[in-house]
Amino acid sequence: MTEVPPDIAEYLASPDTLPEWVRFYRAYPTVTAAVQAVGNGESVAVFTSEHTAYGQQVILIDGKPVIEVVLYPNSQAREALVTAYLNHSDPETATAAILHALPHLLPEDIDLTGIDCVVEPGNGLAPRFGFRRRVFAAGLHTWRDYDELHPLGELYQVLSWHSTGHNIAEGTEAVSILRSHGLPAVGCEACGEPLTNRHPAWPGTWVCLAEEYGPRCDAFDDPFRELHELDAAGIGGPHDPSTSDLEPVT
Ligand SMILES: [Zn+2]
Repeated sequence: MTEVPPDIAEYLASPDTLPEWVRFYRAYPTVTAAVQAVGNGESVAVFTSEHTAYGQQVILIDGKPVIEVVLYPNSQAREALVTAYLNHSDPETATAAILHALPHLLPEDIDLTGIDCVVEPGNGLAPRFGFRRRVFAAGLHTWRDYDELHPLGELYQVLSWHSTGHNIAEGTEAVSILRSHGLPAVGCEACGEPLTNRHPAWPGTWVCLAEEYGPRCDAFDDPFRELHELDAAGIGGPHDPSTSDLEPVT
């Protein structure tokens, strides 16, 4: 029977603990237990969207156990990254430019010591981009040891869904930062959302990343706005790509 430290027992008993963490800490109540499991060939991983989207896993690198965390940009920042990636004609150049631009989307005072910007392959519209931290697990016994010695700190806060003011850039701010790093990001003049005209579902039409159903700009010029003829009114119109964003990036 694996020992369960009191803080983990309390966390597991709390009704506020998210189910993914309950499963993870029940299985691996200590770092030592997680490392043993990895040594036995188990996959020790959890994905959560608590405050922001991130994955934590324990892996072996050159035979040494490592606790790896990858934090992913929130949905609004991701939309800017992925639309800029799609707008670029060369995926490899776009990937390199995004990895270079990622830290610049964060507030300037964020300490990225020990954090790498990474790209993970996938079969989506674009690969996944994230901020990765790896910590050797040697010498760490409890998760409290790990948390206290290696807090995720401000990066976790600025990527949070709830973060306001001191957060990763989104919308037109993200578009302009990405453009200054050579990425052909385009924002809508009306609604400010990042756009692509290379979405596989709508090639040639400017849409947001999630608009599989076609463009529905919230800020479109609705001729029925004053008439309240709901059955005739649209629920969104075409986007209006910013003219300056259509200029080539340097
Ligand atoms: Zn729009």
